[in-house]
Amino acid sequence: MVVRTCVGCRQRAEATSLVRVVAEQGTQQWVAVPDPRRSLPGRGAHLHPEARCLDLAVRRKALGRALRVEGPLDLGRLTAWIAGQAGSTGSSTSQNSTNQHR
Ligand SMILES: [Zn+2]
Repeated sequence: MVVRTCVGCRQRAEATSLVRVVAEQGTQQWVAVPDPRRSLPGRGAHLHPEARCLDLAVRRKALGRALRVEGPLDLGRLTAWIAGQAGSTGSSTSQNSTNQHR
């Protein structure tokens, strides 16, 4: 299994339980973009999909450092995505909904 370190809480976890984050060059600043399918090119950082870990990463400026970007990082998309994940509170609630296309 692949283990990655969360840039927020610094705990090691299975890569599948973390969300990959990449930086995209925006018009004025870098934009942190969630990459749950791990399909985007470039350097990625790994983070628990939790507001708590995002908050920790932001406070330490760990995301920008992990992604090797300078200057401010727009966290709007990442924050919104993580907020959308918040429906599953508590420990791993694996829902077998009909979300699968194949
Ligand atoms: Zn974490």
